[in-house]
Amino acid sequence: MNSSIIDGKAVSLSVKESVRERIAALAREGKRVPCLAVIIVGDNPASRSYVRGKVKAAEFTGMDSRLIELPGDVSESSLLEVIAGLNEDAAVDGILVQLPLPRHIDEQKVIDSIAVEKDVDGFHPENVARLWLGRPCAIPCTPKGIIRLIDSTGVSIEGSRAVVVGRSNIVGKPVAKLLLDRNATVTMAHSRSRDLAALCREADILVVATGRPGMVTADMVKPGAVVIDVGINRTADGRLTGDVDFEGASQVAGWITPVPGGVGPMTIAMLMENTLEARLAKG
Ligand code: NDP
Repeated sequence: MNSSIIDGKAVSLSVKESVRERIAALAREGKRVPCLAVIIVGDNPASRSYVRGKVKAAEFTGMDSRLIELPGDVSESSLLEVIAGLNEDAAVDGILVQLPLPRHIDEQKVIDSIAVEKDVDGFHPENVARLWLGRPCAIPCTPKGIIRLIDSTGVSIEGSRAVVVGRSNIVGKPVAKLLLDRNATVTMAHSRSRDLAALCREADILVVATGRPGMVTADMVKPGAVVIDVGINRTADGRLTGDVDFEGASQVAGWITPVPGGVGPMTIAMLMENTLEARLAKG
């Protein structure tokens, strides 16, 4: 059996086009278009490439963006001051601080300092609490994008067995909550799970976010399952590869995301959507 490829590039393009149309409509009404502020600290090449992608996507949708580049040795207090300024700035709707930050900066303190209504990443503790309480909130971009990709297959989430491998705050936990909200029966697996292969084989929907290249192999996939590979790992020769052995798993799965071209582009598209929503929330 050969699975269908879930085309994250195509789905993300349609999301960005829809954001672009809604922004054009705002502009036609003479209203202010959304503005996303992206802060990058230091010169980590992967972070630089992610930030470039975000600014490019903002340009595509017609929203304004501000790129704030700070040196790697910037003090925590200076970074907090920059964020405080953006919090106060009525022209800014979304603030994104590219992670990871240098070791001398307390990441949680920085996230906590972003105004909740401008937290388009959905990482602020109040947004996290709201997500788990089922209240309106900014939904973290990668998990939100994953649900969109599953929906694009037409496979019903309701009543399905979903297994999420990985329990990070930015991917595993929120995606499990979103699947639960859609009435899947959710299992969260992690590095201490016993017999991971058997757990994974139960999954109608298998989401893998471990950062372990190729760890999910064909024998761990239920025939016909939807497999979402969140992993972005760089091989020794510079290629990007996922957490799922694509060659093998695609022989068994019903649907599967490639890496690159799966979840990655969706994360950026959802950031655009969240920024537009933050703007619209202001009326
Ligand atoms: P973390 O390192 O924060 O978490 C990894 C999780 O995987 C942990 O919960 C860990 O378990 C679990 N894990 C590790 N090894 C195993 C194993 N052998 N068996 C079972 N579970 C295991 O990673 P992130 O969630 O931040 O990221 C995961 C991957 O997704 C990375 O490759 C990252 O680059 C990518 N990513 C991609 C994004 C995108 O836009 N496409 C966005 C964010 C991340 P335990 O808790 O027990 O240690």
